[in-house]
Amino acid sequence: MGVSFDKIDGSLCLKFDIQPKADPTPDQERAAKLVSPGFGRVFSDHMAVVRYSAEQGWHNATVEARGAFQLDPAAAVLHYAQEIFEGLKAYKRDDGGVNLFRPDANAKRFRDSADRMAMPPVPEAVFIEAVEQLVRMDREWIPSGDGSLYLRPFMIASETFLGVKPSHEYIFAVIASPVGSYFKGGPAPVSIWVSRNYTRAAVGGTGAVKCGGNYAASLRAQAEAIDHGCDQVVFLDAREHRYVEELGGMNVFFVFEDGSLSTPPLGTILPGITRNSIIALARESGAIVREEPYTIEQWRADAESGKLKEAFACGTAAVISPIGKVCSANGEFAINGGVAGPVAMGLRKKLVDIQYGRAADTHGWIKKV
Ligand code: PMP
Repeated sequence: MGVSFDKIDGSLCLKFDIQPKADPTPDQERAAKLVSPGFGRVFSDHMAVVRYSAEQGWHNATVEARGAFQLDPAAAVLHYAQEIFEGLKAYKRDDGGVNLFRPDANAKRFRDSADRMAMPPVPEAVFIEAVEQLVRMDREWIPSGDGSLYLRPFMIASETFLGVKPSHEYIFAVIASPVGSYFKGGPAPVSIWVSRNYTRAAVGGTGAVKCGGNYAASLRAQAEAIDHGCDQVVFLDAREHRYVEELGGMNVFFVFEDGSLSTPPLGTILPGITRNSIIALARESGAIVREEPYTIEQWRADAESGKLKEAFACGTAAVISPIGKVCSANGEFAINGGVAGPVAMGLRKKLVDIQYGRAADTHGWIKKV
């Protein structure tokens, strides 16, 4: 086995060797797993894998039975966290077809993450082909109704070497996990904890890319949020500890009484694909959307004066989560009386309808598989 190529969308792409699992999950067992899959514990039968070595470049592209990797205990990723990942979903349309939402944007962000972490770029065509091949193979694993198949592309440094330097070998893989509706019975507002003890990202750091280390470093702050009875942590900037940045795994938006929206500017936050889509949809509906810094003091003052009408978090997993309450060591304040607001819910419906193919895809965001 080695390197073979296919022409996809006019560009040269690695050819995936398709090796179906010899003993796939029986239909009945799979159906039972899809009833209430929750998040991230149920997995489909296959995975896409591509190997990289400094000598061969990307090679050995396969879709094969999902299984453990063999890694030497001295593999670089286990010591120095040279690792990146992505998250996107496949949705089942009413006509039985399958939609991917903006996989090109994930492919591009993955390339940016690789660049920041001194890893070799996965060509965007290879990234998208890996995702599509896996979805084709495991399409029976996409739940019907408002569930979806969560796709997790990732890359790890697999060279056996304890020196601190970029690895010479990598594994790029995609796994798939059926997930249920994030909110049972409609989006419930979340409570968030303002972290004063921990920050997520400094200028020049890795906040803008999706590397595992960012999430490891966020766990203590998230635990603090839970300890204070909150659902999620919100991080402030690392320099002044005033400007709202983002949640542990979601971007944030504010909605004002004049109908305008604002969201923290890019730089040290993850450039969310949901964030970008919401900016586009809100602007199309005639709303002014500002990407500008906003302090936690102003947030509180605006919530208390009534100038701020809504706040919501957004990301691939939950699409849009209204924020009902903000808590910190200095006390707490409610937003919109703690209930979901019409702007958050309207934008949510618009986006979900596009993702499931119930509304026209006027932006070219949908890739049918
Ligand atoms: N911020 C962080 C830290 C995240 O992990 C995520 C989830 N990928 C997001 C924001 C939202 O990004 P997206 O809309 O692309 O899922």
